[in-house]
Amino acid sequence: RRLSNPRLLNENQSDMSVEAHAGRNRIVILGATGSIGTSALDIVRHNLDELEIVGLAGRRNIDRLEEQAREFRPPAVAVYDRDAARALQERLSELKIEVWSGPEGQERMGRLAEADVVLTAVEGVAGLIPTLSAIEAGKVVALANKEPLVAAGELVVSRAAERGARLLPVDSEHNAIYQALKGHRPEDVRRLILTASGGPFRDHSKEEMGTVTREEALSHPNWDMGPKVTIDSATMMNKGLEIIEARWLFGVPRDRIEVLVHRESIVHSLVEYVDGSFIGQLGLPDMRIPISYALRYPKRLEAHFPPLDLAEVGRLSFSAPDPDRFPSLSLAREALRVGETMPAVMNAANEMAVEYFLQGLIPFIRIPELIERVMEAHRPERNVELETIQRADGWAREEARAWLARWNGAGRS
Ligand code: MG
Repeated sequence: RRLSNPRLLNENQSDMSVEAHAGRNRIVILGATGSIGTSALDIVRHNLDELEIVGLAGRRNIDRLEEQAREFRPPAVAVYDRDAARALQERLSELKIEVWSGPEGQERMGRLAEADVVLTAVEGVAGLIPTLSAIEAGKVVALANKEPLVAAGELVVSRAAERGARLLPVDSEHNAIYQALKGHRPEDVRRLILTASGGPFRDHSKEEMGTVTREEALSHPNWDMGPKVTIDSATMMNKGLEIIEARWLFGVPRDRIEVLVHRESIVHSLVEYVDGSFIGQLGLPDMRIPISYALRYPKRLEAHFPPLDLAEVGRLSFSAPDPDRFPSLSLAREALRVGETMPAVMNAANEMAVEYFLQGLIPFIRIPELIERVMEAHRPERNVELETIQRADGWAREEARAWLARWNGAGRS
């Protein structure tokens, strides 16, 4: 069965006419101090003849921002926290670097006139407004921040189409699919197959998952990532979020997006075509690969780290995910089926549940339970505009707080 409306696929996919920018690509990084941001700066550091940093934005880690600003000398830096912004301004006073503060500083950085590419690597749905700001300005948007697409996929993708802003996925699975779709006809796509490492608890029984600690959940077997996405990997909600992300990035119906557990994290995802061909992208589990693809697209930068040695890897394994031990996958599929504001609500409830777990307020197995209860209580709304999404997000966070209070009141049982 072929796709009935192949134009749904991101038009950028089949576009082979794009050429690399003649000069250096001028880069803004939103979320510069996090795991993706620091990896991106490592790429820039090794490719100064190809890439230039024109802006850095962070939340409040001004020690790291100061270091980064001194090394890369962008004309401007944005700090979300206003007190931290003032402190950084003082520290950088002898350099000609402007420091912007607050949410307006992040938005201003997103639409910076000097930028060719805006890398969005903010944690959580907080990245939505600056991402929209980059899209409005018609930037090439290198999307590492998946939550805005989960909560507001339709809005993000339609604004990007209106403004002619190219969305380049940095999430490794979506970056792999983007590469595997290149040069092929959208109507020949049968399925997108997202691979998943399975996280640290892939071999745990349900019972064993009842007693896992924060430290165990934060020790990912393959990837070195920030805490939020690492916990999402442990619950496999990360893969649920990625199903929704793929639906919007590639315009493929949800029943054509599959998840495949692949412990080695070498095959980053696959596209299955109608003729039985599977085309995938392979590489080491190193975020610098998809980041570098997006920062200098369509030109490939030379890697400055050891190559993948497949003989050393030896074997690759694949298996079906277990929905019983990882209920988050079904929750995400349900949110996508219901649509409207439900994915935004699921995302907000997940952000709250992960935060509660990281603070030691709830055990690991209560994460999907909290999300499910919040989703059950939600009345989805149509007309998914920014205000509707923000209201649903706020409602879900309130509902999560109420769940926690009830659960504590009931003796945490
Ligand atoms: Mg991913």
